[in-house]
Amino acid sequence: MKVAFLTSECFPYVKTGGLGDVAGALPKALYQSGCEVKVFLPLYGGIKVQDHGIKRIDEFSNISVHLAGKDLNFSVFHTTLPGAEVEVYFIDCPYYYHRNLPYTNDSDEDERFLLFQNASLMTLQRLKWAPDVIHCNDWQTGLIPVYLKTNYAWDRLFGESRSLLSIHNIGYQGRFPESTVAKSGLDRNLYLNAGPLEFHSTFSFLKSGIMYADKISTVSPTYAREIQTEEYGAGMDGVLRSRSNDLIGILNGIDIDLWNPAKDKFIKSQYTAETLEMKEENKKNLLERVNIEYAENQPVLGIVSRLAGQKGINLLQPIINHIMSLPVRFVVLGSGEEQYEQFLSAAESSFEGRFCAYLGYNNELSHLITAGADIFLMPSRYEPCGLNQMYSLRYGTVPVVRKTGGLADTVMDYHEYYEKGNGFSFNEYSSAALLSTIQRAVDIYYQKDIWSGIQRRGMLEDFSWKKSAEKYLDVYKSLM
Ligand code: ADP
Repeated sequence: MKVAFLTSECFPYVKTGGLGDVAGALPKALYQSGCEVKVFLPLYGGIKVQDHGIKRIDEFSNISVHLAGKDLNFSVFHTTLPGAEVEVYFIDCPYYYHRNLPYTNDSDEDERFLLFQNASLMTLQRLKWAPDVIHCNDWQTGLIPVYLKTNYAWDRLFGESRSLLSIHNIGYQGRFPESTVAKSGLDRNLYLNAGPLEFHSTFSFLKSGIMYADKISTVSPTYAREIQTEEYGAGMDGVLRSRSNDLIGILNGIDIDLWNPAKDKFIKSQYTAETLEMKEENKKNLLERVNIEYAENQPVLGIVSRLAGQKGINLLQPIINHIMSLPVRFVVLGSGEEQYEQFLSAAESSFEGRFCAYLGYNNELSHLITAGADIFLMPSRYEPCGLNQMYSLRYGTVPVVRKTGGLADTVMDYHEYYEKGNGFSFNEYSSAALLSTIQRAVDIYYQKDIWSGIQRRGMLEDFSWKKSAEKYLDVYKSLM
């Protein structure tokens, strides 16, 4: 099985969230299941070319392309993914990709990913490599299924290629003005008269992909159901319902080598389900690191998150005093929207010595929190899959989550399932529900036998990519 995997981010080169983790791990797991995989992503200015052995392919330099009314050119760079024979091709076009961040609000954001998509297909042509499946991810690659059936349909190389579009978050839809249609080189008639490219008077790359992809997937079974409802569909629910038969939810895995408490290089004391008492050393180390005084028998609450509306940080606001009146410490790592950053900084000042808000992106600290906290909070309004709750489970850090999307598929509430519970969850998106669930978790924390049972059940669960990769492989085969 030959798979071209197109993505706008991929760990360890560039990552802003869950897609980066998926793109770094799934191709590896597919390779281990016998697939030949080539990954394509833009060569952003921030990618450290030398650190990753990324080299320019001489024959693929300065390839001309006429796009968005401009004569552009791009080059192709190459490396292999660490730990697997997976080829990674980078589309280099400094004019578009040398900016501060991978995603921008610049007026040519549409062009940046039009170039990426066309250049990826052109690179496949130059490689003369015919993929069985082109696996697209999110709106940044949403037009690939359209191009395959229109502008590139003449090329017999793609004659047998099928497309899968994976949706990692329905909230990001790649919506642009009508003028983007001309830039894309696609037939304007596909947009006019409520055509497949049109979505509420905009050109949505995601909607286009949903209409044209041979199959669509999303990152958990519960999210696959939720996005077909008005409450969670972000306006796309009708479009998704129209493709219901071709839509499947496959839970993301986690990289069990990177996220392994028995081998984690970032943490102070490695441990397993059998040596759980070592976890306390990591808690001390974490607290020391963030200047919080360690107190025996006081649970540490942790958060690692993008600070976006989706993540439910606003639920904490009205109850933060109440939470901090419990015998707890609290460490938050996150960056994002100003309002949440301000709230967290203010909390740090109010609860000096017991509350730490580290605002920024810090991979090492995310490992220290995952290992050192006792309770990990994810009160998300919606959560397509969520990785942090799986990392936490594997580290014996008990998750408190809202029961939505992938959180509902991975965290079993101890209250409901005494024998199977691996964490705590609540249904209603409210501060009161979050508070009472935190309270419940803190109460159980003191019942050491029950608590360690909950921890162990989480640690022994299999969240490896192997299981998920097999499911993707089944989907690929169903396309043949
Ligand atoms: P999303 O994709 O919505 O951001 P996920 O839970 O699927 O959420 O993935 C988030 C990933 O990004 C996880 O690997 C998490 O550890 C990481 N992450 C998020 N914020 C930070 C941060 N401030 N510092 C380090 N890692 C972070």
